[in-house]
Amino acid sequence: MTSLDSLVSWLRAFAASVEEQKDALTALDSAIGDADHGANMARGMAAVVAALDAQSFDSVGALFKKVGMTLVSTVGGASGPLYGTLFLRFGTSAGEVSELDPQALAKALRAGLEGVVARGRPEAGDKTMFDALSPALDALDAALSSGASLADALTAASRAADAGRDATVPMLARKGRASYLGERSVGHQDPGATSTALLVAAAARTLA
Ligand code: ADP
Ligand code: MG
Ligand code: MG
Repeated sequence: MTSLDSLVSWLRAFAASVEEQKDALTALDSAIGDADHGANMARGMAAVVAALDAQSFDSVGALFKKVGMTLVSTVGGASGPLYGTLFLRFGTSAGEVSELDPQALAKALRAGLEGVVARGRPEAGDKTMFDALSPALDALDAALSSGASLADALTAASRAADAGRDATVPMLARKGRASYLGERSVGHQDPGATSTALLVAAAARTLA
């Protein structure tokens, strides 16, 4: 079972990774975007941490509603609504419960991915955060259905997210600012796929 406390630890760990990787994320976005992805995500996750410090939450649904709304309102740019929707849908799927079993966790993450798709319409190979998150959730589902522990399943998901992130390098961007570059987007790692791999890595460290 994954407790509310572990979910809070996941969010704090993601915030810490984003802060640590802020300059690297911005450097990636300077190559194929507008050089703000690190700053956007660090600002948003700092606001999330401030909310976690200020109040406690009595359900997974309430926690992730706050997280999603905080990101939507503090992050300018594409990533605010995309990550915001991911967490809002995660919370709606989880509901008014205080813990999640592995199936419910996987289902909530899948709902989050569906929220990203509803918002941004990314498809596989478009060179976006989808290309890290979608294979990660496929790996998570596959591991859980073959009887793996949550720890092992999340480790597999994190490896798949990293591979998905790396696979964005040769892709031609078809969504977001990077798509304006056309062929010149090829050869660069997508910033959003990079931050999403940090999110999944943080889950593997904290949720099992
Ligand atoms: P902006 O491009 O508005 O400056 P950010 O730099 O914070 O926003 O985020 C850029 C990232 O958002 C991209 O690297 C990509 O992964 C993701 N992204 C952009 N547009 C879409 C979309 N339509 N669907 C999915 N992800 C997207
Ligand atoms: Mg940007
Ligand atoms: Mg921007």
